[in-house]
Amino acid sequence: MFRRAAKKTNNTEYYEILGVSNNSSQDELKKAYKKAAIKNHPDKGGDPEKFKELAQAYDVLSDPEKREIYDQYGEDALKDGVGPGSSSHSPFDIFEHLFGGGFGGGSSRGRRQKRGEDVVHSLKVSLEDLYNGTSKKLSLSKNTLCLKCKGKGSKSGASGTCYGCQGSGMKITTRQIGLGMIQQMQHVCPECRGSGEVISQRDRCMHCKGNKVTQEKKVLEVHVEKGMQHGQKIVLEGEADEAPDMVTGDIIFVLQQKEHPKFKRNYDDLYVDHTLSLTEALCGVQFALTHLDGRQLLIKSIPGEVIKPGQHKAINDEGMPQYQRPFMKGRLYIQFNVEFPDSGFLSRLDQCRTIEAILPGKASNQITPMELEECEETTLHDVNIEEEMRRKQQERQQEAYDEDDDSSGPRVQCAQQ
Ligand SMILES: [Zn+2]
Ligand SMILES: [Zn+2]
Repeated sequence: MFRRAAKKTNNTEYYEILGVSNNSSQDELKKAYKKAAIKNHPDKGGDPEKFKELAQAYDVLSDPEKREIYDQYGEDALKDGVGPGSSSHSPFDIFEHLFGGGFGGGSSRGRRQKRGEDVVHSLKVSLEDLYNGTSKKLSLSKNTLCLKCKGKGSKSGASGTCYGCQGSGMKITTRQIGLGMIQQMQHVCPECRGSGEVISQRDRCMHCKGNKVTQEKKVLEVHVEKGMQHGQKIVLEGEADEAPDMVTGDIIFVLQQKEHPKFKRNYDDLYVDHTLSLTEALCGVQFALTHLDGRQLLIKSIPGEVIKPGQHKAINDEGMPQYQRPFMKGRLYIQFNVEFPDSGFLSRLDQCRTIEAILPGKASNQITPMELEECEETTLHDVNIEEEMRRKQQERQQEAYDEDDDSSGPRVQCAQQ
């Protein structure tokens, strides 16, 4: 069917190249290829021909369809175009596909074209944006290949080699800097500005003035997805400055979350502070909390429950949505602060007696009248403790400074004598 069977077909050579038997498993083939390919990799000084042979043998034998054709009809049948040709893959592609990269990092072949630089911008977003998701339109100006000349820079599409540098883009100048001493300097060719080519005045593209690129304003739409984090990157592939003979780089937006006046975020959880009056803390509380999507959440304590200062409560599934799984949400934590009434609130003795009658008894470390006899009277002063500490710290610093000054004094005097 594939060819006249008169000629004896060679269908063992690939097995011999890999050093395996013709009934070896896929796993054995892979192992044998890996071992041999690493040993013969040109980046490690191996023979490129041998490396190519190995890749070709492995490419065919690792594909069950190709292997069957090869086993029956030999190598020639594959070359005749039955199935995908074995020559379509570069030996480096096969190797890198299997083992992820060549040796020495940057030696990856096939990607010969230079890549333009990525451009990084920060993008300010609110916590509401990250909760609800949003898309932002941004206007940026960027270099785009000239539409008129398609990035050639000339009307005819032709360009000549630069005289000044013979196309290298660099120029070497020499100058004498002393007797028999010559300094060589390499610099970018001023005539072609490093491109190595020139376009004649008459042939120059009118639209881009021979620059090959023009600056265009472009409106980009950036999609901020629900649950994205502060610092997360959004990549717009191939949207950076265009240049001839170059793969266009990406524009990368790094999210910067603006601080929220009410909510704090920690991964998928949200935190909010709520201040209660002493009465609410003791007798129960009920209030509405406006969420990041505008919904009103009713928050209420259990009847009879007392809320203590600094106490937390959590509401499930009212935190931040998870990135790419927005239906999964974290928790919303509420921290309660209790505001006590000011002095003088209970000025009358009978009011105090009423409260004493309701509230649980005084602390257990009450003193007996006997002990009271033994005690000395004291006076309590009001202080702002933070301010007090700050003042003391400053005093200590000043003292340390003064001491330093004293010790250096005599030394200076000695030097002067
Ligand atoms: Zn030049
Ligand atoms: Zn042009």
